[in-house]
Amino acid sequence: MGQGKLEGQVAVVTGGASGIGKACALRFAAEGAEIVLADLRGERLEAAAEELRRTTNGRVLAMPVNVTEEEDVEAMAQRALTDCGRLDVLLAAAGISHAGYVSGSSAGERGDTVGATNGGLLDVPLANWNRVLAVNLTGVMLSNRAAARCMIAAGNGGRIVNIASSAARIPLVGAGDYSVSKAGVAMLTQVLAQELVEHGIRVNGIGPGFIGTPMTQGMQDDEEGRANMLAMTPMGRLGTVDEMAATALFLASDDSSYTTGQTLYPNGGMFVG
Ligand code: NAD
Repeated sequence: MGQGKLEGQVAVVTGGASGIGKACALRFAAEGAEIVLADLRGERLEAAAEELRRTTNGRVLAMPVNVTEEEDVEAMAQRALTDCGRLDVLLAAAGISHAGYVSGSSAGERGDTVGATNGGLLDVPLANWNRVLAVNLTGVMLSNRAAARCMIAAGNGGRIVNIASSAARIPLVGAGDYSVSKAGVAMLTQVLAQELVEHGIRVNGIGPGFIGTPMTQGMQDDEEGRANMLAMTPMGRLGTVDEMAATALFLASDDSSYTTGQTLYPNGGMFVG
């Protein structure tokens, strides 16, 4: 047996086919965890699972899941128990920047910036609002409780890490649906931390600043968009997915054994306190 921080453990990662979720899955696997990689059905999920197997030699189960569908999410948690024998960690990263966002689609059709204007809350179509809240907030709630039920049944405690956003603390004009959904994730993290503490389950969150992933690709490719991101970031650069994975590993491992209900904001100094 190796010396990894998650040796012998099972981690479920939603949004695991891309960006921050994939980087967290890779890091967890490198630390000895078996991974249930959950994302929307498709080639990207299979490709990410294959990449994980190749680079870590670890066991990886690819699981097609839409986090807005309760049956999918319950099946995902159950699969960890039935196929892997346990569920120790949930990393909830599945998310969208706005209602029309399709991760990994080409820049021209994407318009996928975090903070992409949708005309403001007075104009945002209700269907768009509902879509962002369904994926970013309800999806996290459903995954959290499905995982927590399995963790409680197994009786070994567990750790849940939710990917919120610095937009939980910064009101993004023109992306109110996104900001509100992420503020909801931060509060969900606090409530669940209190509800689950008696079961030995710790619940924490991460609120990234601007990170180099497909979600910010549109802004990275646009001169003004890039300048805006850097102007909001005192460190003067985007964060990397590996920096997010390092924060996730801290919260998913015993390194943070006395921490629950917190959202950490690795955002290059975007705000303090
Ligand atoms: P990404 O597009 O690379 O990854 C998001 C993943 O979520 C994709 O693989 C996508 O298929 C999956 N997903 C979307 N809807 C889903 C659904 N209904 N069910 C299952 N999976 C679904 O983007 P990313 O930047 O890695 O984003 C990961 C998380 O980080 C998101 O929650 C995002 O809001 C958050 N975040 C990102 C940034 C950033 O700058 N990139 C900043 C703050 C927060």
